[in-house]
Amino acid sequence: MTFDASAWTEAFETPRAFMFDLDGTLILSDRSLGQYKVLPGAVDYLEELGRRGIPYLALTNGSAYPASEQGPKLRALGLPISDAQLLTPSSVTADLLSRRGVESALILGSPGVGQALRDAGIRTLTSDEPDAPAAQSVYVGWHPDCSMKDIEIACDAIANGAALYVASEAPYFATSSGKSFGFSYAIAGAIQRVTRARIQLTGKPSLHALRFVSRQLGVPMRRIAVVGDDPLVEIMMARRAGAIGIGVTSGMTDAAAWAAQPLHRRPHRIAENLAGLKALELLEPRGPKCASEPIRPDPVAS
Ligand SMILES: [Mg+2]
Repeated sequence: MTFDASAWTEAFETPRAFMFDLDGTLILSDRSLGQYKVLPGAVDYLEELGRRGIPYLALTNGSAYPASEQGPKLRALGLPISDAQLLTPSSVTADLLSRRGVESALILGSPGVGQALRDAGIRTLTSDEPDAPAAQSVYVGWHPDCSMKDIEIACDAIANGAALYVASEAPYFATSSGKSFGFSYAIAGAIQRVTRARIQLTGKPSLHALRFVSRQLGVPMRRIAVVGDDPLVEIMMARRAGAIGIGVTSGMTDAAAWAAQPLHRRPHRIAENLAGLKALELLEPRGPKCASEPIRPDPVAS
């Protein structure tokens, strides 16, 4: 597939770091979310960033598996990505709750959803524990087995003062067998209808997510290239933050759909996949001004 390069001319500064989406960008998952297929060019591109010393990481909106579980599967496909370079909305939630001094969370999610919170020293509860309604926060993630009891206890906790945090607000996401249902979106909708609580999104496209990424990379948000397949998720987040949005057509969005996006979710550039990203020459100095500028992480991220 070829792209009309003349349609994608918006200027931007050379990225100092990269944030990649997982599903539809680096990999495709199967519907059971247990297995992965790596997408063309992903391994090569990450290896090239590694050779150049350019920091990168992946942020998925999937909260089912903590990095310690997902990382080894991705490395088995050849992707050069450490557990520390693999973030989920649960990583963002753990960071946010810690900063806010929140010590307990009722988890509506499969067993892996609360792991990052436990790693951060936050007590996690399930709805069958007697003090669940007294949890200081409710965190909704990947939860295919969510019951009405879970929703009821979450509503009780919110009535008692807990705040509502949610991993993903995407009703559907891309998999190798087509679109898959986003459980946390549906569950949060039910809780919100009962309690009218404000939903605090921690996954993409929230700025909580990109601020966390920025701190992890040690690079200001505006110098991060955010690479993803979903205008409503990665590119909307990039635009909100003044970051660099790069759309790929290997997932939810084809070239015509990218071209039709309004400005607030229009990428700066598009590529077929990470193999096509090379042609954009994001890594090369692009003019005399950039050529003299050293590429190194800022000590203070925005
Ligand atoms: Mg995606």
